[in-house]
Amino acid sequence: MTTAETNGTVGRGVSGGVGGGATATATARPATAPATLGPTANTVLSATGVTVRFGGLVALSEVSLQVPPSSIIGLVGPNGAGKSTLFAVLSGLLSPASGRVYLGGADVTRSSPQARARKGMARTFQQPELFLGLTVREHLVLAHRVRFARKRLWQDMANPLALLPAPASENDRVDALLELLDLTRVAKAPVAALPLGTSRLVEVGRALATQPDVVLLDEPLSGLDMHESENLASAFRRVVDEGERQVSLLMVEHDVATVLALSSHIYVLDFGELIAEGSPEAVRNNAAVRSAYLGDENVTAARTDLEPTAPEPTDREPTTQGDRAPDDRAPDDRAQGSDEP
Ligand code: ADP
Ligand code: MG
Repeated sequence: MTTAETNGTVGRGVSGGVGGGATATATARPATAPATLGPTANTVLSATGVTVRFGGLVALSEVSLQVPPSSIIGLVGPNGAGKSTLFAVLSGLLSPASGRVYLGGADVTRSSPQARARKGMARTFQQPELFLGLTVREHLVLAHRVRFARKRLWQDMANPLALLPAPASENDRVDALLELLDLTRVAKAPVAALPLGTSRLVEVGRALATQPDVVLLDEPLSGLDMHESENLASAFRRVVDEGERQVSLLMVEHDVATVLALSSHIYVLDFGELIAEGSPEAVRNNAAVRSAYLGDENVTAARTDLEPTAPEPTDREPTTQGDRAPDDRAPDDRAQGSDEP
């Protein structure tokens, strides 16, 4: 795994490769090829038949995935399965050799990350990259302005003395978001002072402030302690169930128990192939998933964890640890967002 990936900066600023290294084979679709099946009416984001090769290695083979509105969708798989590569294709950092990506019905396969952001896609990274001197609220305001008041952003920067008062609509939206994420009490705190769990919430808030239709979450729980994970997971639920706007979350995550608990539909990758997809129940009971990824013992643990009578969070730690993939890293490694040793 490359250093960039280890630092959780999957492909950022690197064109045509996930975290640098080999360049993906990016072949334009031949004009004569039959039209790929488009998105169904009821998806905010979809991928069809996505294939990515790194030299001779097939990192993704004909992978398709759909994200319906107002849903939480999970993407899991062992290390090297192709999760980060798929995220890079969905977010526009990597061009697939074949296959299409649709955002809100539009084909964005060749669109830049910025163009996708304007069309309603946001994402978070494993390592929150926040401006340490700014407060929590300022982060959300900035993100909101980048999307909705770009011109004004530049005016304010050019002439700080002439800062215009914020419009009521902006204040209201930011306040509602702070409330939804339970960040109101730290709204005025500089992010430098915040624990990792709260920083992750700020990152999610920043993504949501752009009012996206879909947010890609890259291992949002990595490095968090149990209490912080619980907090973030319930914030995700609130965002989808109670937020002002319809939004969907697509989550890559190592904490399988949490993915199974949160997601309505889960996709399982192994060696670049989609080996299973379906409801948490279906995925949990899938034989291929058991042998390829979870391991029987861990599946049982995950099920216990999801029983209605599941123990309260404070009792969960051993189970949650048990749910982790066999190839999972030590907590310290996870805190650094490393994907592989
Ligand atoms: P995951 O995120 O599920 O751990 P990745 O998408 O990072 O998996 O990797 C999928 C496969 O592609 C792995 O075999 C990995 O080694 C390979 N791979 C990823 N990025 C690159 C790259 N930039 N150059 C060469 N191979 C890569
Ligand atoms: Mg990865």
